[in-house]
Amino acid sequence: METTMSHIALLANPGMGHLIPVLELAKHLVSHQSFKVTVFVVATDHASLANTHLLQSPADSGDLLDIVLLPFIDVSDIGGPSVSFIATIVTTVLRSMPFLRSEISKMEFRPTALVVDLFGTDALEIADEYNMLKFVFIASNAWFLAVMLCTPEIDRKEIDEHVKNRKPLHIPGCKPIKFEHNLEVFFMDANDPFYQGYVEAINKMSLTDGILVNTWDELEPTTLKALRETKKVPIYPIGPLVRPIEKSAFGNEIIAWLDKQPKQSVIYVSFGSGGTLSAQQVKELAWGLELSQQKFVWVLRPPIENDAAGTFLALGNGSDATLNYLPDGFLVRTQDRGLLVPMWAPQVEVLSHPSIGGFLTHCGWNSTMESIVNGVPIIAWPLYAEQKMNASMLTEDIGASIRVMAVESDAAVGREEIRSVVRKILVDRQGRNIRSRIKELKDSAENALAKGGSSYNSMSQVANICIQHLKTKASGA
Ligand code: UDP
Repeated sequence: METTMSHIALLANPGMGHLIPVLELAKHLVSHQSFKVTVFVVATDHASLANTHLLQSPADSGDLLDIVLLPFIDVSDIGGPSVSFIATIVTTVLRSMPFLRSEISKMEFRPTALVVDLFGTDALEIADEYNMLKFVFIASNAWFLAVMLCTPEIDRKEIDEHVKNRKPLHIPGCKPIKFEHNLEVFFMDANDPFYQGYVEAINKMSLTDGILVNTWDELEPTTLKALRETKKVPIYPIGPLVRPIEKSAFGNEIIAWLDKQPKQSVIYVSFGSGGTLSAQQVKELAWGLELSQQKFVWVLRPPIENDAAGTFLALGNGSDATLNYLPDGFLVRTQDRGLLVPMWAPQVEVLSHPSIGGFLTHCGWNSTMESIVNGVPIIAWPLYAEQKMNASMLTEDIGASIRVMAVESDAAVGREEIRSVVRKILVDRQGRNIRSRIKELKDSAENALAKGGSSYNSMSQVANICIQHLKTKASGA
């Protein structure tokens, strides 16, 4: 292997929503920068991963892209199924570090840089040991990044006012966060067992060579400006990085069904890789879809009580028993209008189909970007993590969605509200207005990624830093 070629190592942490954007960044570095890339994958659910075909290297990447699945880590000793998915991710990643170190140490063609995410900052010391550059990749937006980077510096009194008295939280130069749009509590609560680790991760992120974020300058100009003015670490908006449409045999049946439907007539319903609903909520959603009298494709998972991120770390297999949670006679009454997809759909392929007229989504950032680049209007139904912030940004600032209101209060979303939002997007004017706004966003995203665009330039800067580092190392300086 030529030593003049940059080699980048990426660490992907557990959860499909973490792995998918990291793989996209990897493919982008291979195809646009001609870098050699190795992706180290830490996973808690090796079986489901195999089913999603995500780990197969694309044929056009030649031998430039290596995907290395790190050994399975047993974390059953930390509390079993009741333990939070954050605790599972943090522990799994920590226990994977010796394997990552060993893999990197035996590489003959040592990487020039290591890219990690919020959960992977412990790996940055390995980069230091081998004189590699260090980058963080946040597969979310700049507003979320700003909240993370700023909360440890905000006066405790102000945070208490936010957490206890539900006052908006002010982030320097950015839109304040309303209490009801807030993140998981450990980001704010100094008494939470994760808070110290979170602050340490933020400190490590601030000492890297840069933070790559899956957004673009024209989408979040104010927040990015504030970040650049207030933070020493360089910020590189490189998005939107989104999977291209991959035709797969796996999606044939769904696409064949969509082919038979009129243009923009179908609502696609999916809550990402992790989202799960309660049994009551599954029933209400079914009623809402039926009452809307509209066509739908619904990625259906077995209900789980009180765990909105129920499948984030382990997708599991669907079972026919899930159908028992649907209202009596639902399948017969909707057989000409609806398609139920168990567990996992080829989402990008579905969203890019001309029959899709709207996307009822949990607002995970990957799903959000996929909807925008395919020009699909959004119904925002956030569940966990930063999704309520994303929904607020999409609805109040960007104009790309309407919002299911009941989620503000964490009450179950009723069938009448679901019926109403689906009709607003597919039948009423609102869907058309949002569609034209999304068209503008789609064009703006394309411009950002095109040669000379803001994200293209950011990515080139990162690439140049890597090339320069390699040259410096080669010259022995
Ligand atoms: N996804 C998919 N099929 C599904 C559900 C999800 O391909 O049935 C993909 C989706 O296209 C997206 C990712 O999984 O790329 C989910 O990421 P997102 O950030 O939207 O949500 P998360 O799963 O992290 O909550």
